[in-house]
Amino acid sequence: MNFTNIKTPAYVIDEKRLRENLEILADVQRKSGAKILLAQKAFSAYSTYPLIAKYLTGTTSSGLFEAKLAHEEFHDEAGDKKEVHTFEPAFCDDEIEEICEISDHLVFNSISQLEHHRPVWENASDKGTLSVGLRVNPEYSTQEGHEIYDPCAPGSRLGIRLCDMPQKLPKGVKGLHFHTLCEQGFEPLKETFDEFEKKFARFLPIDGNETDLEWINLGGGHHITKPDYDREGLIELVKYIKDKYQIDVYLEPGEAIALDAGYLVTTVMDIVKTEKYPVLILDTSAACHMPDVLEMPYRPPLKDSGEADEKAFTYRLSSRTCLAGDVIGDYSFDNEKSIGDRLIFEDMAIYSMVKNNTFNGMPLPDICILKEDESIITVKKFGYKDFKDRL
Ligand SMILES: *Cc1c(COP(=O)(O)O)cnc(C)c1O
Repeated sequence: MNFTNIKTPAYVIDEKRLRENLEILADVQRKSGAKILLAQKAFSAYSTYPLIAKYLTGTTSSGLFEAKLAHEEFHDEAGDKKEVHTFEPAFCDDEIEEICEISDHLVFNSISQLEHHRPVWENASDKGTLSVGLRVNPEYSTQEGHEIYDPCAPGSRLGIRLCDMPQKLPKGVKGLHFHTLCEQGFEPLKETFDEFEKKFARFLPIDGNETDLEWINLGGGHHITKPDYDREGLIELVKYIKDKYQIDVYLEPGEAIALDAGYLVTTVMDIVKTEKYPVLILDTSAACHMPDVLEMPYRPPLKDSGEADEKAFTYRLSSRTCLAGDVIGDYSFDNEKSIGDRLIFEDMAIYSMVKNNTFNGMPLPDICILKEDESIITVKKFGYKDFKDRL
């Protein structure tokens, strides 16, 4: 990897790593019969969509803008449109018509939203271009300590609880959706599905149940492309659902698609002595360019580094914003660092470009692609106008 000639800060998407993830996902699709979608909220660098569209069934969107992006950009090589799925806790009256026109699946978060928008979606559904579903809440938490990422946490607004479901699926509803996981393996999915299957049994097409269910969507949060993920287990579960209920099964991971498939390249601008570790002032920022570092929080992997005090020279990595807490973490190195050195943060394709901001008037990092032949192309450059235009 030769990142010495690019302007920093820059996100660099690693096309080879992306393709390797996509091959794993395509293999799961082929062996299980599941349909896998890219959750754009994690990764929407659309210059890579032609590559992703070669492998996956489509995309899922959090609203009109993501759906439009998918509709415009997510095509396979033949130019054929792939599936567009859209879920939003509440849809705007002035957006729903366009969303229905460009979406293949639309998922509502409440019966009141479903009924409020019925005249619009029924029209598209009668024409056969749209399939409508409901997001349910299996009320089964599988994560501890991260309530902000747990749609099953008490008081959650996401998904309809069984106690709020009608006796039968409302007319026109063809699918059920749940999304409850975050960065998890197969076991929590299995437990959640078992719970869902028990609780929502009356809606599933079996034993003479009167239901029009045609598909279920198991949401995202599946770390399918991690080496230790139990893919065989996932394949078996999808096959079981398809065999038993004769319905389509969708998965919509975001992270898994571009996991470990990108870097954030930054330059050391200054080194400030403190009573603790010396601080490297970088031309990037946790708050602006990797907000999950502060929100999640987590410590991003950094190439050729160790934990604090593990290697000879330890520094606190921070940024050129005025926020005291804009700290990425403490890292150690074999060699002393100098002004002008470059550092490479890893696993920076997901939840980075889609979440960045220009707080402090910080410039947005360029977006580059590391091609399979090791050449690097810059696909996006940003400047003052991008800052000014938002304010
Ligand atoms: C966030 C989200 C996803 C993708 O989640 P990942 O953790 O990135 O896999 C999928 N579906 C819904 C409804 C989501 O909110």
